[in-house]
Amino acid sequence: MVELHGVSRTYPGGVTALAGVDLRIDAGELVGVVGPSGSGKSTMLHLLGTLDRPSTGVIRIDGHDVARLSDRALSALRATTIGFVFQQFHLAPGTPVLDNVADGLLYAGVPIRQRRRRAGEALARVGLSHRLDHLPHELSGGERQRVAIARAVVGEPALLLADEPTGNLDSVSGGSVLKLLTELHEAGTTVVVITHDQAVAGRLPRRVELLDGRVVRDDVPVVQR
Ligand code: ADP
Repeated sequence: MVELHGVSRTYPGGVTALAGVDLRIDAGELVGVVGPSGSGKSTMLHLLGTLDRPSTGVIRIDGHDVARLSDRALSALRATTIGFVFQQFHLAPGTPVLDNVADGLLYAGVPIRQRRRRAGEALARVGLSHRLDHLPHELSGGERQRVAIARAVVGEPALLLADEPTGNLDSVSGGSVLKLLTELHEAGTTVVVITHDQAVAGRLPRRVELLDGRVVRDDVPVVQR
């Protein structure tokens, strides 16, 4: 699903956020990316999400060499293959839950009625069928993150990238978000989660640990190799 070969990312100003990373994530894996603040986790997630390009090295996502794709082809790959979940939820305020999720299909070119029908299905999947007409500010943090996950998966992406998805949640809500990510993984989605949260990291089958832009540890589950 994802291959990084000798990937480095140096930002203007000279900070090397990733330094020669090799990583392979197979389809259907559930992987945690862990490491202290500044170790390169977000940089790696942006590269995996094709939101950024490496300074050197090769990245393949779902078989595509990202450097060889035009901006247009890259946007299409992102719209059809990748879903994002962020710590701050990033829901549109003042927009009902159903439409927040339906908007996740805007760039996939799906007609409005079908968008709303599929949004309803995605919200059922995350246990929020009773909240379709609510506005984001009327929901708890845990519910908001479940809406964000519904929006990320409404297009049925093969790859789900989550950046500190439990970072703003209490432990009970965080547990339910982790359970949801695990269910999506069990249904076949490849899931990559950045987390500081030891309770979350400890429950993931594989952990990739970054330090100073390098992979210093990678617990690959024996059954998968
Ligand atoms: P983490 O997610 O593990 O906290 P980051 O990937 O955000 O780590 O950052 C890795 C390093 O790159 C840090 O030293 C950070 O300050 C630097 N960095 C991140 N983004 C930028 C940017 N846009 N411009 C310059 N430096 C950056």
